[in-house]
Amino acid sequence: MKIQAAVSREGARYPQIETLDIEDPRPGEILVRIVASGICHTDLGVNARPGLRPFVFGHEGGGIVERVGPGVSRLVPGDHVVLSVNFCGECPSCKRNAHSYCYEVLPRNFGGLRPDGTSPLSKDGDRVYARFFGQSSFATFSLADERCAIKVPADIPLEILAPLGCGVQTGAGAVLNSLNVGAGQSIAIFGTGSVGLSAVMAAHLVGAQRIIAVDVVASRLALAKELGATDTIDASTADAAKLIREMTVYGVDYTLNTANAPAVYTQALACLANLGVAGFVAPPQGAFAPDMFHLLSGGRALRGILGGDTTPSLFIPMLIDYYRQGRFPYDRLIKFYPFEKIAEAFEDSTTGKTIKPVLRMPN
Ligand SMILES: [Zn+2]
Ligand SMILES: [Zn+2]
Repeated sequence: MKIQAAVSREGARYPQIETLDIEDPRPGEILVRIVASGICHTDLGVNARPGLRPFVFGHEGGGIVERVGPGVSRLVPGDHVVLSVNFCGECPSCKRNAHSYCYEVLPRNFGGLRPDGTSPLSKDGDRVYARFFGQSSFATFSLADERCAIKVPADIPLEILAPLGCGVQTGAGAVLNSLNVGAGQSIAIFGTGSVGLSAVMAAHLVGAQRIIAVDVVASRLALAKELGATDTIDASTADAAKLIREMTVYGVDYTLNTANAPAVYTQALACLANLGVAGFVAPPQGAFAPDMFHLLSGGRALRGILGGDTTPSLFIPMLIDYYRQGRFPYDRLIKFYPFEKIAEAFEDSTTGKTIKPVLRMPN
């Protein structure tokens, strides 16, 4: 079958839409007609760095199951699904439902191929790498691993639901699962992109007493305030850590760092109260040496967080319920782009003009 897909090729700044061939579903696979796909910073990162090419990225797909392969029993054609992270289902992490820490997370999500070394996509007989996060959703159709698919209600547009697959659940899950922030506690969130703002909404949802949003973009800080931040700090004009310590006396119980500048890591540790936990979702880009005495003397912890420690099949339906109730208005982060404007959407995401771009497929 022929599909349209945005292909990242060597030397090209943005993915270009091309006609490709897609295989029929094999055992454990589903063919999904993609209605919409979110763009996440991981897509921008892999597209900008050298690597396997040509490759179809995209990992926040939302669509309708068109066909299912042999052995697929959980889904039937016509089901609405959101596609999320892929995992092996067999390793110790998967057995305890900690799918984001699957021991095969890299090959299953970034390897471009099925475990047997084949790709479902090709052009004129030449291989095109796919299976990005088990899906490659920058396309009109995706041949996804059944494990990636979360069945969602059909009465909410898929273009709203698609971005739940990665960035939104990472931010919300970091607060609700990884850090387990509770009522009456305090958190400072560094960076108010889609992960940071989802964290702000989740902290508000659980009744955190103090929610301090830190960024350098005034419009994002204003939105953070509307979504539940109790305080905002413009880090371009203030020493955020110093200000947070002044505001909270002992420091905050938690920090969530969604940025990757080493200086932000230092700040996120410096404002932490005793027994506090500093969560981070991306490695620092550059040298960072944590103050080990500061960590030890206050019983503080530095905690890496992938995917918000969620079990997507439980967590995504829960976020949808909160959204329906008006308690998790993450749709305010979204701006829609037609599929053919993917370059503009990449650009607006890179510059920060758009918080969560969502591509609408011509389906
Ligand atoms: Zn696994
Ligand atoms: Zn992502």
